[in-house]
Amino acid sequence: MKDFFRILKYVKPYLGYAGLNIFFNILNILFSLVSITMIIPFLGLLFGTQEKVYNPQELGFSASAIKENFYALITNIIDDKGKVEALIFVCVLILVMFFFRNLCRYLALYFLSPIRNGVVCDLRNDLNKKIISLPLSFFTEKRKGDITSRMTTDLVEIEWSIMSSLEMFFKDPLNIIIFLITLIIISPKLTLFVVILFPITGFLIAIIGKSLKKSSEKGQSKMGDLLSIIDENLSGLRIIKAFDAEEMIHKKFEKESADYRNIMTRLLRKKDLSSPMSEFLSTVVMIVVMWFGGKLVLSGSGTLSPEEFIGYIAIFSQLIPPAKSFTSAYYFIQKGSASAARIHEILDAENDIKDTENAKTISEFKSEIKMENLTFSYENIAVLKNINLTICKGETVALVGQSGSGKSTLADLISRFYDVKTGEVKIDGENIKNLKIVDVRKLMGIVNQESILFNDSIYNNILLGNPIATMQEVEKAAKVANAHDFILKTENGYDTNIGDSGVKLSGGQKQRLSIARAILKNPPILILDEATSSLDTESEKLVQDALNNLMQSRTSIVIAHRLSTIQNADKIIVLHEGKVVEYGTHNELLVNNKHYKKLYDLQNFS
Ligand code: ADP
Ligand code: MG
Repeated sequence: MKDFFRILKYVKPYLGYAGLNIFFNILNILFSLVSITMIIPFLGLLFGTQEKVYNPQELGFSASAIKENFYALITNIIDDKGKVEALIFVCVLILVMFFFRNLCRYLALYFLSPIRNGVVCDLRNDLNKKIISLPLSFFTEKRKGDITSRMTTDLVEIEWSIMSSLEMFFKDPLNIIIFLITLIIISPKLTLFVVILFPITGFLIAIIGKSLKKSSEKGQSKMGDLLSIIDENLSGLRIIKAFDAEEMIHKKFEKESADYRNIMTRLLRKKDLSSPMSEFLSTVVMIVVMWFGGKLVLSGSGTLSPEEFIGYIAIFSQLIPPAKSFTSAYYFIQKGSASAARIHEILDAENDIKDTENAKTISEFKSEIKMENLTFSYENIAVLKNINLTICKGETVALVGQSGSGKSTLADLISRFYDVKTGEVKIDGENIKNLKIVDVRKLMGIVNQESILFNDSIYNNILLGNPIATMQEVEKAAKVANAHDFILKTENGYDTNIGDSGVKLSGGQKQRLSIARAILKNPPILILDEATSSLDTESEKLVQDALNNLMQSRTSIVIAHRLSTIQNADKIIVLHEGKVVEYGTHNELLVNNKHYKKLYDLQNFS
């Protein structure tokens, strides 16, 4: 229930609507009540037992005053125009009451819709904001599909379970209370009986609710697994086909899918139990009322007249639907709470990479990036060991080494995608933990091995580098990146949509767009992580030219696979198993005749 109440807090901005909803619900209930109690004089007229009142007490808000005045009115009509006229009067009154009852019901729902969708929308936005703000390390543990499922199916579940229960939550308790008060007014003795039966039914209902919540938890997390598989399958479709693995992949999917089916069948069965069970329970209560009430009428003690008793049963029968929907709301809320908990897990995730209280601003890179005694591990195994390194302003520094030696990790630490625990990364003598993260990232431009582009126009993809740039600036950046010409050849030029992560472009074209993006950002520090590794020789040349344009008059950290591309670097740093084993210029390192020479020979040989 804790999770449910937390979701309820999201209703706060919509309290005005909630107020209107409650207002119309109360009107709805009052109109229902009046239209149903009308059955008492109706029967009284039919059976000729209608009580005649000639001198009613003054009209007021007490039940007896209203009743006496109304009876006086009917008495008046009977005496003036006859019983049939009175009957017509009562019928028309019932019709009018029903009309207003339904009008109010609609208006209540009308004001509920913005709450329902608003809460889900706010939750969705909060989730997205949180997910984007979380550090990369969070996502190595959580699978993509799991997060997708939390953002989609769990939200839908909240909308359908919790939000659709809101109506009942606002309406049914009121409904039940008002109807119960009326019942007490008609016959306190009989009503006492009914109230005693409530806790017993409540207990049975709670048991089912708890068990529903558990099944729902399982179902939602299974859905996450399924979405993960779908996501992997879609992005790996090329490989699945090439390796003829359709069958194997589908088998795996079928298994998960069947698991999900079984969980959901169990869940549905439990949920479906709720309605027949509450119906049976309410019938039991009803029979008890009929037996006990019937006895009261037959005893002829005058405490309950037959038409009052029928009116009582009519009102009582109206009490059953809200009681039933209140219990199903309870079930729904239990079911939705599981989803709410999953969403809260993300909202509560600790973001350990954040600005310190007195984070300093930095708007300019003045002298150097320094790493001091830096040791870093993702889990338990150290990936970088005791690194000491200085990168001076204006230098081009190359990081080389075998795959897995920690080059990318080192670059990630400079842009503070991860925090170091031992040692320091300093920019201009200041530990980057004490600098504002946005400021640090503003100083850096990054081009990776796999170009990360978005399903949007070419223009917007480049614009990401500097959202306030003009069209001229975007074009200029594209020209420097050797991208302008091929962009013009695409269907709609800069407005061409490049498809999901740029599938409509070749590897080299994608990479040149990423470079244009970095050029537009115009950062003083540039990080190129194997920016040309995945390209063929021809596009590598075009991209390399673009990169050389980009690197001019900047501080660059270049991670390169092909050593031919970094021979002119001011400093080459050789990493081996997380340690700096050698550094110097290309010629110095060749003379040294150690690690670098070995790597170099290996590449020239092949
Ligand atoms: P390089 O870029 O030199 O090929 P990386 O810096 O990517 O090497 O990786 C260095 C080591 O860290 C590798 O052994 C790799 O398995 C490990 N590693 C990289 N990223 C992660 C991660 N997100 N979680 C755990 N281990 C990682
Ligand atoms: Mg790497």
